[in-house]
Amino acid sequence: TPGGGTRVREEKILVTVRVRPLSRREQALYDLIAWDCPDDHTILFKNPNQERPATSYKFDKVFDPSCSTLKVYEEGAKNVALSALTGINATIFAYGQTSSGKTYTMRGITENAVTDIFEHIKNTQERAFVLKVSALEIYNESVIDLLNRESGHLRLLDDPERGIIVEKLVEEVVKDINHLRHLIGICEAQRQVGETSLNDKSSRSHQIIRLTVESSLREKSGCVKSFLASLNLVDLAGSERASQTNADGARFKEGSHINRSLLTLTTVIRKLSGGKRSGHVPYRDSKLTRILQPSLGGNARTAIICTMSPALSHVEQTRNTLSFATSAK
Ligand code: ADP
Ligand code: MG
Repeated sequence: TPGGGTRVREEKILVTVRVRPLSRREQALYDLIAWDCPDDHTILFKNPNQERPATSYKFDKVFDPSCSTLKVYEEGAKNVALSALTGINATIFAYGQTSSGKTYTMRGITENAVTDIFEHIKNTQERAFVLKVSALEIYNESVIDLLNRESGHLRLLDDPERGIIVEKLVEEVVKDINHLRHLIGICEAQRQVGETSLNDKSSRSHQIIRLTVESSLREKSGCVKSFLASLNLVDLAGSERASQTNADGARFKEGSHINRSLLTLTTVIRKLSGGKRSGHVPYRDSKLTRILQPSLGGNARTAIICTMSPALSHVEQTRNTLSFATSAK
């Protein structure tokens, strides 16, 4: 039943891992490839320096560096994305350290999901669809509208009927696919504003693009079966912000806000997966989890794509990423 917001989630979270190729920079520094994908469910630490035992981790899917974003989409996101067309809220996250490929992956996922959604609308003549888009950025626990940056810091309100609302957030009605691509382009350009003065801003901010799909049967009489759900496409702050251990004094204070949304999200995901369903889920502890609550618990499906560098120099952060991914299964 769509709308059963408080129902316990029945679907497990889809957890996949994408390994990017070694970057030019890593190659230039003679970095070593520390990881291997022996099959499409397994990622293995090869231990090039023989310092630790080889370790392997298993996930729903592991995408090696040769995999296209189309494959990552089809096997790691598509079914979750398309569930929004039938009234089930969906969230797709990219999680990983800065420069591991989150933005690269989410751009491709978004483009593929948008194409499929319009294809579905075209092929489903018996239903009338209304598609809307909104986009926001969370930076230091401030919410900013990526379609209307002039509105400043937005407040979150609890509406007794509609649940959590981002006050004044622009929601554009989408006319066609090119209109949507144009709006997504605006968000991306907006996200770059401020990058020059704060050159690691993208590593500290979260971006959510939200597509809301509403549809009803074109019937003259009888029950009008309508669906309403949203698809949330989330490019998270760098996961190094979730581990406070490697933060030095100055960074720690500055990063503490961004850590709040990311840390709360990791706690919420852990609670939602792996049997801890009865416990208290601390959605209210951060802006990110408050905004995403209806699309995480209850009538919702979630996919997490964990991105990682194959480089030996990043192995500690990659292990942190894989341990989060393990806890989300
Ligand atoms: P993040 O958003 O996690 O900080 P980016 O998505 O910006 O990382 O990726 C860092 C760099 O690596 C970018 O130059 C990007 O184009 C490149 N990159 C990331 N993933 C891939 C991939 N799967 N294949 C090729 N290049 C990639
Ligand atoms: Mg990025």
